[in-house]
Amino acid sequence: MIATPKRGAVAWLAIAALSAAVAADGYGYQRERMVVQQIQERGIKNPRLLLAMREVPRHLFVPSELQGMAYMDQPLPIGYDATISQPYIVALMTELLEPSPGHKALEIGTGSGYQAAVLSKLVKRVYSVEIVPQLAQSARENLKRLGYWNVTVRQGDGYKGWPEEAPFDRIILTAAPPRIPDALIDQLARGGRLIAPEGATPFSQELVLIEKAPDGSITRTRAGGVRFVPMKKG
Ligand code: SAH
Repeated sequence: MIATPKRGAVAWLAIAALSAAVAADGYGYQRERMVVQQIQERGIKNPRLLLAMREVPRHLFVPSELQGMAYMDQPLPIGYDATISQPYIVALMTELLEPSPGHKALEIGTGSGYQAAVLSKLVKRVYSVEIVPQLAQSARENLKRLGYWNVTVRQGDGYKGWPEEAPFDRIILTAAPPRIPDALIDQLARGGRLIAPEGATPFSQELVLIEKAPDGSITRTRAGGVRFVPMKKG
């Protein structure tokens, strides 16, 4: 008899909390639907990642005229020939990266800063390199404004990585090089993981996972076809 009202109270509290979240951010419902239908139902399981994708306001990382499309199952243009990746691809790559709270991570291709924001909730620090100065600047400002204090963005050529901060436990490329640069594999810590789209043309790209064992040996695993913005020569 005592348990019933308690359960009811918990249910009402949950509804109140959900309503508050939806009211505070008009996109809460769309974001929840994105996580369930596009991400969980396609097999992504990492609970910390699912929580991060429930929390990061993707609509604040797209141009204002496209905000209404921010939670759709597709990439969107963000200017300068760049795109914010499809939510599922962000989730898939982040899950393959197996991020942990103590990790230091490097991202190549900051773009909107959305992937960096998601990753920043899962690791200790994110360093992100973007070649287009205007994108580097706007992502840096947006991440700061939204409180992602553990992300550092720098304008530069991703082929070179960020040698001053190496080694990195995790590296993610969100632009596709014809071949994963040796400089980036060199900057991967032992026991580290690197995920990247690789391929000479947008029609021949594949996700590749590189694992560096504690003894420094490298294994490469293919993880399916994708289509990313090609990585520009610096
Ligand atoms: N991760 C981004 C999506 C990036 S699209 C997001 O969450 O929004 C790919 C980005 O890589 C583009 O912004 C492009 O300008 C950048 N890029 C392309 N070549 C690069 C290079 N050589 N070094 C660093 N960034 C590069």
